[in-house]
Amino acid sequence: KEPPSPYFSSARSKRNGKPVFTDSMDYVLQKKLRVWCSASDEKWELGQIQSISGDDVEIHLVNGEVLTLPPERLLPANPDILDGVDDLIQMSYLNEPSVLYNLQYRYSRDLIYTKAGPVLIAINPLKEVPLYGKDFIRKYRQKLTNDPHVYAIADIAFNEMLRDGINQSIIISGESGAGKTETAKIAMQYLAALGGANGMESEVLQTNVILEALGNAKTSRNDNSSRFGKLTEMHFSETGKICGAKIQTFLLEKSRVVRRASGERSYHIFYQLCSGASPLHRKKLLLRDANYYNYLKQSACLRIDGVDDAKRFSSLLGALDIVQISGENQMELFSMLAVVLWLGNISFSVIDNESHVEVDSNEGLVNAAKLLGCSVPQLVIALSTRKIQAGKENIVQRLTLTQAIDARDALAKSIYAHLFDWIVEQINDSLGTGRQRTRRSISILDIYGFESFNKNGFEQFCINYANERLQQHFNRHLFKLEQEEYLDDGIDWASVEFVDNTDCLSLFEKRPLGLLSLLDEESTFPKATDLSFANKLKQHLSGNPGFKGEQDGAFKICHYAGEVSYDTTGFLEKNRDPLHSESIQLLSSCKSDLPKDFASVMIADSQNKSTLSRHLFVDSQKQSVVNKFKAQLFKLMQQLENTSPHFIRCIQPNNKQRPRQFEHDLVLHQLKCCGVFEVVRISRAGYPTRMTHQQFAERYGFLLSHSVASQNPLSISVAVLQQFSIPPEMYQVGYTKLFLRTGQVAALENAKNRMF
Ligand code: ADP
Ligand code: MG
Repeated sequence: KEPPSPYFSSARSKRNGKPVFTDSMDYVLQKKLRVWCSASDEKWELGQIQSISGDDVEIHLVNGEVLTLPPERLLPANPDILDGVDDLIQMSYLNEPSVLYNLQYRYSRDLIYTKAGPVLIAINPLKEVPLYGKDFIRKYRQKLTNDPHVYAIADIAFNEMLRDGINQSIIISGESGAGKTETAKIAMQYLAALGGANGMESEVLQTNVILEALGNAKTSRNDNSSRFGKLTEMHFSETGKICGAKIQTFLLEKSRVVRRASGERSYHIFYQLCSGASPLHRKKLLLRDANYYNYLKQSACLRIDGVDDAKRFSSLLGALDIVQISGENQMELFSMLAVVLWLGNISFSVIDNESHVEVDSNEGLVNAAKLLGCSVPQLVIALSTRKIQAGKENIVQRLTLTQAIDARDALAKSIYAHLFDWIVEQINDSLGTGRQRTRRSISILDIYGFESFNKNGFEQFCINYANERLQQHFNRHLFKLEQEEYLDDGIDWASVEFVDNTDCLSLFEKRPLGLLSLLDEESTFPKATDLSFANKLKQHLSGNPGFKGEQDGAFKICHYAGEVSYDTTGFLEKNRDPLHSESIQLLSSCKSDLPKDFASVMIADSQNKSTLSRHLFVDSQKQSVVNKFKAQLFKLMQQLENTSPHFIRCIQPNNKQRPRQFEHDLVLHQLKCCGVFEVVRISRAGYPTRMTHQQFAERYGFLLSHSVASQNPLSISVAVLQQFSIPPEMYQVGYTKLFLRTGQVAALENAKNRMF
């Protein structure tokens, strides 16, 4: 447990006109106030101090029990008048039990949103809550309520965008299942309601239906888990009407198409297609039921409770129409999905004692070839042979069973991943009309949060790397830039510590000896193995305090959100992500348009490869996966840096996807991971409202009841502050700006409104 100091107290002495934070436990003991007691290590309980004798404090618990504990086992509790405050910065005592109690108090009353200074905390209700819809949107639009809400955040972003002409971003993070995607949709619905005019708003909303069908799946944590990251940029006209949108996606988990844990599903769209396609579609696509396909039936989960896949399919068709994906393109989309399914039913027979194979001539083979628009022999060659150069000659070699299965799965994954990118492109084409580079855009980022499981692989490695980057952006905006502004303007400021993750990021990105470079380097050696990679890491990084080499090819990284142990199994293969040149050739020779398009994208990709990977992959000469991902992330960060950010942290209240269960440890861990305590500390000590002397004087100078001798903005500003009796500890005067604590401009704004 954290030591019970230095918690801030609201009891401030006015020494030097500055707030002084007293060591609050003394005060609590002296006044015999409410306290949190930890008799055991698991749990905090609320009680009232009755008496103190020596080192023993007698406490009466709420449930009637009496405890005697030493003061180290106590933490100050907030007075009950502060129960359930809607912004954590209003709490007198900021300690773990107090924050948890406050959040739980609100959560149990369906108040799932709470502010932590500038950050919105959203705790997943895991049931319907009456907080959304037209009436609520109107209430937030007309400022009839101050309750924290996604709508309120979207409203601020919208107003700032129109008023200041600055692009905005809403950055949503949290663990899988914490509610990010729902939150993103709620924000989009609000913006669509505000900016709706010409039908563009429903197009934008319907893109969610399409991308969820292709990019979401049932996992053990979430029945509708997004397996990709997404940035949706909405563009507005001068009058605030939506005039276009653009979607960017990140790192789709394509391995899910061919393999996943039992009890999980592949992407929704496969099951929707199988159960919802019309008889005509079924005939054209040679379609069978989901349980006919190996890729679908292998994980022993075909249905999701409470979900009607056929119905979802008809919503999907509706969405495709609204987003203006042509009937022809829809048909191409579906036939590529059918190709993937049939590929999974292709099987191989071993023909010699070296495990070489031939492709079984079955229905899967025939149907996949038919839908691709190639001949059966072409497909057979692509899946079971490989050309290698021996001297001047090309020899054709048969693949072994493992190689053939890998080749088949790689083709299926690659088709799916390109299909996903292609549909995003179609959507962007359709939403692009009227999209110009304006300073009126709001970008909503819905991206996988930090992950730490019992077993963590390449995917977690990438996801957690992305989260380190995002965390740095968060830190920069909420801690660094904020504090630098105070120091630059010369005001009194004791800096607040925060977990700086620069070291961890450089562990990943340093060249040539960072995790990413070492992985890329090792991926270029044909003979390298996951174990040789693990050893290489140990050899070069063992001195780094953020890194720990472990047994059996595992290694640990000390992330801002905790230590994670990674198993290197599969790292090299996943990073190389090879696709045989035979497969690319196959696609480019197909009669259907889409496979040909995919092949040209692949070829263009490989010309784009990094020098490092150029001499490596015999088969697929392309950029490594981490390299591409890193580039995408850098681009994303650059885009975000050009916006004014708003942060939403989604919290998962329990691991069972059940409503009304609030697990303290789980919630606490997430709050710590996303820096909520630091944000509250800094906001409480800080001055969120700031204006130049000039701005302040212009805005409020006319409220002065008497004239001021000097007309300079600073004198006018100070006179205004005095006239409205703003206490000196509530503001500071910097070289260029005035800094005010939360709530202080309210009095001035009210006075101003009364004048009109
Ligand atoms: P994430 O994107 O963080 O993985 P989701 O947004 O998919 O999580 O949320 C998981 C599930 O939680 C949703 O399918 C939904 O059932 C529930 N949920 C999330 N947010 C809300 C909300 N605001 N109201 C009601 N249910 C919600
Ligand atoms: Mg999601």
